[in-house]
Amino acid sequence: MRIDLHAHSNVSDGTQAPADVVAAAAEAGLDVLALTDHDSTDGWAEASRAAREHGVALVPGMEVSCRTAEGISVHLLSYLHDPAHPGLLEEIAKAKDARHTRAQRMVSLLAEDYPLTWDDVIHHVAPGATLGRPHIADALVAAGVVEDRSEAFSAILTSRSRYFVQHYAPEPALAVELVRAAGGVPVFAHPVASARGRIVGERTYREMIDAGLAGLEIYHRDNPEEGREFLRGLAERHGLLVTGSSDFHGAGKPNVLGENLTTPEVLARIEELGSGTAVVR
Ligand code: AMP
Ligand code: FE
Ligand code: FE
Ligand code: ZN
Repeated sequence: MRIDLHAHSNVSDGTQAPADVVAAAAEAGLDVLALTDHDSTDGWAEASRAAREHGVALVPGMEVSCRTAEGISVHLLSYLHDPAHPGLLEEIAKAKDARHTRAQRMVSLLAEDYPLTWDDVIHHVAPGATLGRPHIADALVAAGVVEDRSEAFSAILTSRSRYFVQHYAPEPALAVELVRAAGGVPVFAHPVASARGRIVGERTYREMIDAGLAGLEIYHRDNPEEGREFLRGLAERHGLLVTGSSDFHGAGKPNVLGENLTTPEVLARIEELGSGTAVVR
């Protein structure tokens, strides 16, 4: 069984439509795929139809943007939550709106130094999609400023850059609580991805665990080996599930479907715990 529990479509910052992501998963020999767009479940219906067509099982999911009080960005994967839960919907709507204003601010700053307009960015965003820095990166690629998204992030768009602007997002423990309240299974995405920005300390882990965190995404290319050892210890001590995933973004990142996998035992636990919706088979 090949199970990949983290992938993006153009409903957020992936480059392919949900049905095409599922087709690519079938092509890559995956048996199970989770679609986990940032702050949106808009791709679930299309992905579900494609999953039945291609004989791939689809785990409906989402990646919730969070931010700690100190301003550290945290991504929380949610599996099998009720997409209509009001409390969770309200928070992701707030984050999604804030992402829009934030992208506009970043574009104004960037426009002082680069040939970039808001229209250039919007050109790369599917209607209704969750806006992110990758869309700004696409506009910089189109303008010939950088070669690809990776170069845009390393040179211009990193969280340490002077063009970087933060956006509202719920605190991680609140997001964990809301995901649980919506019948979902909360898993901390790439927890020690230090190349992306600052990573959280013990206190945030404790708060998330107390709020009902179910698992840690340990097998992800952005988690350095030293950090994985720490995470394995934490999972052991607190009985947390351990997942592995690709974080596929289509052509937007080098990550390939199935490059990290989750065991069938862990998927079975996720199915037992999740009560907001079901795996599509
Ligand atoms: P944002 O959501 O606007 O803060 O942008 C963060 C998103 O950018 C993440 O979800 C990643 O998918 C993407 N990202 C981060 N680093 C890179 C990179 N080096 N190359 C391509 N995409 C990246
Ligand atoms: Fe992303
Ligand atoms: Fe993420
Ligand atoms: Zn992701």
